[in-house]
Amino acid sequence: MSSLTELVTSTISENAEEMVALRRELHQIPEPGLHLPQTAARVRREFAELDMEITDANEVSGFVAVLRGGKAAKTPLAERPIVLLRADMDALPVAEESGLRWASQNGAMHGCGHDMHMAGIVGAARALHAVREQLTGDVVFFLQPGEEGWDGAQHLIDEGLLEAAGRLPDHAYGLHVWSAQFPTGTITARPGPLMASSDTMVVRVHGRGGHGSAPHKALDPVPVAAEMVTQSHVLVTREFDIFDPVVVTCGSVVAGSAANVIPDHATAKFTLRAFTPETRLRLMDSLSRLFEGIAAAHGTTCEVEERKLYPVTVNQAEETEYLADITEKAFPGRWTELEQPVGASEDFSKILERIPGAYAFVAAVDPEKDFETAAFNHSPFATYDDSVLTDCSRLLVDLALGRLTS
Ligand SMILES: [Zn+2]
Ligand SMILES: [Zn+2]
Repeated sequence: MSSLTELVTSTISENAEEMVALRRELHQIPEPGLHLPQTAARVRREFAELDMEITDANEVSGFVAVLRGGKAAKTPLAERPIVLLRADMDALPVAEESGLRWASQNGAMHGCGHDMHMAGIVGAARALHAVREQLTGDVVFFLQPGEEGWDGAQHLIDEGLLEAAGRLPDHAYGLHVWSAQFPTGTITARPGPLMASSDTMVVRVHGRGGHGSAPHKALDPVPVAAEMVTQSHVLVTREFDIFDPVVVTCGSVVAGSAANVIPDHATAKFTLRAFTPETRLRLMDSLSRLFEGIAAAHGTTCEVEERKLYPVTVNQAEETEYLADITEKAFPGRWTELEQPVGASEDFSKILERIPGAYAFVAAVDPEKDFETAAFNHSPFATYDDSVLTDCSRLLVDLALGRLTS
């Protein structure tokens, strides 16, 4: 073992207990959304103590901390490698029912394990800081709020925080813990599409209201909206390859207020999922065409609003191979390649659209539970295995070191 590896190993294990304590402390102050004053301040303090260059986001709770490698001091910025490591900090608006002694009491919950991500990245920061003089490049720690549907990463990107080290990093890595589905300690990902895109379409059909007994004197928007819902499912099966699948769900239809009154308008809201960037865009275009066509066919008009949320999370092939190699070296036998992408979405996708990188899942199943039946992420009963924290730190550290020590 080289002295660098020894120092990393000893720093991570010396900090192990403190990271468990930090995770449990953060677990008790969960904050959902984009504004996480207590959480972000607590995590920021850890990076400030390591004397890093910190750039705060202005509009939301988030920051980027830059660790400069000692061996890179004389290398021009353009030539020295820069690695980004990311953790999300937000919780869910879920009342915790885990029964843990240190469960949250404030009505919100770290049900998705982002408290693990924060403690894991702090452990990684301490270890990388310990070997900073030997690094040939820089590490960017990207701490964001609002992963759970709030577009948090985008806010930091809009404020220029991806370039906090002076330019865009060369590699980006992130991980997510799972409370079930794989035996604890399993590390998994796949090249190419890893997680679905997630977008919303809102269609407002404009007709002309009237008396329910005389539809011929009105222009009823309700059957038009109903046809949009059923035809959207026909479109999915007729226009999209079953091996490049999409999901369309209409979760809300709102029109009128009385049985005998034809309303002026009807509104339908759809959620869309896809697994390739091209299909994601084609799905929106096809649905717009379908909705406008159906509205016109019945003499009504419609407005179609596209709300793009998260792109497909795409792991770059070479970076995924690197992730698998690093994992196999650090944790022999624990790497498993995922056969299929996951239907959930991630705003790490926004970073991967700009920087080549990879995202991994780390199983952190409560040792008292069975991975096949344990409550999954987002459940009020979800619990996680603290002992995986050091693995999270180790994985992030090794991913950075492989790019910064050659
Ligand atoms: Zn989540
Ligand atoms: Zn999450």
